[in-house]
Amino acid sequence: MEKQALKVQRLGVGSYGNNVYLVQDQLQGCCVLIDAAAEGDALLQAIGPDRLVAIILTHAHMDHIQALEEVRKKAGAPVGIHPLEPEATRLRPEISLSDGYRIAVGSHELEVLHTPGHTSGSVSFFLPSTLCFCGDTVFPGGPGKTWSPEAFQTLIQSLERKIYTLPHNVLLLPGHGEGILVGDSKKEYEVFHRRLREKTPFGEVHWEES
Ligand SMILES: [Zn+2]
Ligand SMILES: [Zn+2]
Repeated sequence: MEKQALKVQRLGVGSYGNNVYLVQDQLQGCCVLIDAAAEGDALLQAIGPDRLVAIILTHAHMDHIQALEEVRKKAGAPVGIHPLEPEATRLRPEISLSDGYRIAVGSHELEVLHTPGHTSGSVSFFLPSTLCFCGDTVFPGGPGKTWSPEAFQTLIQSLERKIYTLPHNVLLLPGHGEGILVGDSKKEYEVFHRRLREKTPFGEVHWEES
């Protein structure tokens, strides 16, 4: 019964192919918006008469926050960001999304997983036990972009400790493009992991080619 009240919508917005996710408890008429990427009007329309409990950010790269101030103001909703995100201070979040923090959406809960690497304050939101909104941490075919070998290693640790420890049938929903099951993503990563290489790669890494 409880499950039926839950609705998750993916909204493709903006010129960078961003996914915004709207998680709604239809019985209680409330929702949470993950990444106010762009096209504020479309996002507000999707929210409709529901009460917007919070706007939570997977990270604060420009393409993920273009409609943030508009939706924040018009819907009167608090914003959540991880304290280590470089843009966190400037964006004045009302909610600090540290690891383990839980955001209630009616009778449902999203759990914050700190998954640094793509940025230092990148987080994923786990909706037990079916979905995980992972921002730019991992996509089908490879991890999100990193800007140093250290950041790449950090991202790998995030995957090994936080994402690939989730049940295999959890669907990872990234900030761009299609989703992938945890089990399938893990298999792709294992191919990469078994290969010996001299240097740690970083940048645009593909599991099969890098
Ligand atoms: Zn990003
Ligand atoms: Zn992005």
